[in-house]
Parts: sequence; structure tokens; C-alpha cells
Amino acid sequence: MSTPLTVLICGYKGRMGQTLLSIAESENARVGAQRDAGDALGEGIDNCQVAIDFSFHSATAELAGICATQDIPLVIGTTGHTDEEREQILEATKSIPVVWAGNYSVGVNLLFHLTELSARVLGDRYQPEIMEVHHKHKKDAPSGTALNLAEAIEATPDFSSAIRCSGRDGETGARPDGEIGLHALRGGEVVGEHTVFLFGDHDRIELTHRASDRRIFATGAYRAAHWVASQKPGLYSMRDVLGLTQ
Ligand code: NAD
Repeated sequence: MSTPLTVLICGYKGRMGQTLLSIAESENARVGAQRDAGDALGEGIDNCQVAIDFSFHSATAELAGICATQDIPLVIGTTGHTDEEREQILEATKSIPVVWAGNYSVGVNLLFHLTELSARVLGDRYQPEIMEVHHKHKKDAPSGTALNLAEAIEATPDFSSAIRCSGRDGETGARPDGEIGLHALRGGEVVGEHTVFLFGDHDRIELTHRASDRRIFATGAYRAAHWVASQKPGLYSMRDVLGLTQ
């Protein structure tokens, strides 16, 4: 195995931070520095080859500025940034490589790719429906990932003007053409499941991802960290990391 990648973990006391710490060794990484709320974000960063941020939206922009100054590539997992914070982060991508993704699961990113490919190949003879299942505590519905799956379908020519819909035609109960059905189920402690159905007249395709542990995000973030360490300055997605953009 090659020399471990030395990383800074920002938000190390949190759920994702702890998961990142627990699997570092098995992901061929070494934690060179760890920061959380109240710590000086830049301290110890000069020993690190890549910074990984799973903290709070207000911390990311400052960290991105420090990484840009110190020439340290950055992996951003944190979500919920304001427009101003987004601008500041984008500024940093002019001088360092940054991977920025709302979902680091390799499986989910593959599902986005397969969904777009399937909708492109099958076209509007097939009716898309998206179903997601999450634990009873989840506050938003449909999930951000379900919305991203709808975007993957809308990225194809036949569905570029499709309408997202969670209900049915009020009178007939039918699903009108040109709609993407979105269905959210809530119950128990389900970590997260997403299925894309493409219904034809004589067959149907089902693409499913089932998550059982948040480690899938941490392993994806480490994969991004190893990849970003040798990239040129710029903004990258998990699709770039996985080589799915060609
Ligand atoms: P969490 O609340 O368990 O942990 C967040 C940690 O960040 C806490 O330890 C908190 O003290 C720390 N923090 C807060 N302000 C900080 C600051 N200014 N500087 C440094 N650290 C600070 O949350 P979590 O479940 O670990 O998620 C963290 C973030 O990652 C959230 O934005 C979440 O939405 C996102 N997330 C993204 C993915 C993905 O795949 N992109 C997956 C899971 C979670």
C-alpha cells in the first residue's frame, strides 16, 4: 500500500467526523490534525495534504480561505451554505482543487449516473417514478437525494421539461405524461433507500440503492481526498472523482 494520505478533519467531534476518524487507517489515511467548533481552523493544517470538512456551513468558507492560502486541496461534505458562503468557497477554487458534493456515497453517485443513462436510453416511452424511504425522524421530504435523482432524469432531452409531482390527477387518479412521480415513505430507523422506476408498457426497470451505515459517506470522502490531492485548482464533483463525466 502507498504512503497514507495525511488529512485534516474539520468537525471531528460530530457524527461524520467520528466516522472519518474511525476508518482513517483502513482508508490509507492518517489524521494529521483535527478541528471542531472553538478551535483555530488553520492550526496544524500545514502538516496535512488534504482537508476534509464535515462541520457546519459557517465554518467551510473560512476553512476554504485558509486552504487556498496554504495550498491545501479540500473535500467539502458540509451542506446548507448561504449564497455568500458559496461565493467565498468558489473563490478558493481558483487557487486550489476542491471536491464539493452533497452526497459522498459512491453507490448513490453511481445511481445518479445510471438513472441519467437509463432515462436517456429509454426516453419518454417510459414513465419515471422515484420512491424514497427514510427513518421517522427525518424532517424534509422528499429527500435531497430524491430531488437529485429527478434532476438526473431532467438532464435528458425527453424529460427536460418534465414536472415533478407527488400526487395524481385529481379526477382520474392517473399519472399524466411528462410527470416524474416522487414518493416519500417514513418509518422506523431506515438509514436511506432510493428506487427509480422506469415503467414501460411491457417491462420496467428498477434501480435501487439501500444505505445501511453512514460509513458509505466517509469512504466516499476518503476516495475524493486521495483523488483531489493530485488535481489542478478548480471545482470538482463526485462524478469527476469516479470518472463518470466522460
Ligand atoms: P454533527 O452535528 O454530528 O457534527 C458537526 C460537527 O461540526 C460538530 O462536532 C460541531 O461541533 C462541528 N462544528 C460546528 N461548528 C463548527 C466550526 N465553526 N468549526 C469546526 N467545527 C464545527 O453533523 P454530521 O451529521 O456529522 O454532519 C456534518 C455536516 O455534513 C452537515 O452539514 C451534514 O449535512 C453534512 N453531511 C454530508 C454528507 C455528504 O455525503 N455530503 C453526509 C452526511 C452529512
